Amino acid sequence: MPTVEEIKQIQNDWINNHVPLLYKQMMQRALNDELSPRQTIKAKCLECVGFNDKVNAIGGCTSYRCGLWTKRPFKNQFLARGTAEGSDVEEYNDELDDYSEDSQDASVEALK
Ligand code: SF4
Repeated sequence: MPTVEEIKQIQNDWINNHVPLLYKQMMQRALNDELSPRQTIKAKCLECVGFNDKVNAIGGCTSYRCGLWTKRPFKNQFLARGTAEGSDVEEYNDELDDYSEDSQDASVEALK
């Protein structure tokens, strides 16, 4: 088992060498446990899709068995538009504020 210092070094090396500049601060904060659960899910999904084409790749994610699938960002934008046009992180945050029980139920139904 690596030490805490070794884990931090692994994380910093990954951020410095593999995370795009736009997302470096977000990932650093995620790894420092400085983000909300919602923001942390977003960070994980962004990392999962390689920080590319976030609305289509995350919103259209087909990993139905992923534990984050019902909470993934951009799903409503993807379903409504099927396009990445006009979306941004602020829209996503507003969207999740409006996240309803109905949409959660629909996501669960889709898994059956
Ligand atoms: S919901 Fe999809 S994009 Fe998000 S972590 Fe799971 S598999 Fe990756």
